[in-house]
Amino acid sequence: MITRGTFITRISGGIIGLSLPDYAWPVNHFAGNNLPVVISTWRHGVAANETAWKILSDNGYALDAVEAGVRVSEADPGVNSVGYGGIPDATGKVTLDANIMDEKGRAGSVSYLQHIKHPISVARLVMEKTPHVMLSGRGALKFAMENGFNKEKLLTNAARQRWKRWKTEEKVYKPEINSENQEGDHDTISMLAVDSESRICGACTTSGLAFKMHGRVGDSPIIGAGLFVDGEIGAAAATGTGELVMKTLGSFLVVENMRNGMTPFQACEAAIIRITKKIPDFSEYQVGFIALSKSGEYGAASISPGFEYAVATAEFTGLKEADSWMKAQ
Ligand code: ASP
Repeated sequence: MITRGTFITRISGGIIGLSLPDYAWPVNHFAGNNLPVVISTWRHGVAANETAWKILSDNGYALDAVEAGVRVSEADPGVNSVGYGGIPDATGKVTLDANIMDEKGRAGSVSYLQHIKHPISVARLVMEKTPHVMLSGRGALKFAMENGFNKEKLLTNAARQRWKRWKTEEKVYKPEINSENQEGDHDTISMLAVDSESRICGACTTSGLAFKMHGRVGDSPIIGAGLFVDGEIGAAAATGTGELVMKTLGSFLVVENMRNGMTPFQACEAAIIRITKKIPDFSEYQVGFIALSKSGEYGAASISPGFEYAVATAEFTGLKEADSWMKAQ
């Protein structure tokens, strides 16, 4: 059971209309300048971080690390919320969203992309090869194929079976996500990395909410919502019900909070508090933010308990649970 609650901190003082938490050192906070660092959302972030870490620990580029890292989840049929094996929309189609940003503020994204296993790499090409930021649907697919990507079948038998069950048993689109129904239905991988040269980059890739309406696009491909990077400050990314994140431009808000002096944890906490103030039925949904500063501090916060994020640094490799606004009883 979950009850309405607060973060471990109490609020006092104010900054740009937000409040600065006044508290002892936050639980998710990491103080130190030990670069590189990579963090990513959910349990499948552990394997993704491992691949990213190999690049980072070899003095590689953070952009290469985040792309290679999230490709691990995209290719894994066991991760049913990203890429190959993703749960389809209400009509049985797997449609993918992805977004990538580098330390120079360059950005590329794709939305409503079908048949391509690695949308993150298409997003990177949009960033590097086109004058645009986002390509969508058939145009994104055409661009991908012109650039050497192959059309693949992304709907696995397991995902099709789940969709069939959903069609016969539930039929109704249920966007709400609570902690009892978290696993598997909304586990976008968002990854943030800062390399040994302090270059900070981020990537975010998803099949979106399970059984979403056909044509629905979430926060993940939207710059500033699912992901935002400012090479002078830090980066933030989101997971959970994208509609809440889009309405509050969550990742941009987290980075702006850091610009105004908050730690990554405080910045995530303030963005979750913003959601609780602006969205009346927020407690029906899950949203989690992760944030990383250019100097390698990181933090995370969520609406409901159960949001785990994976961390890899020279000192620590593993999962952490974010502090949440609602508390488990
Ligand atoms: N944020 C994603 C979306 O709304 C869902 C997720 O995190 O899995 O599409």
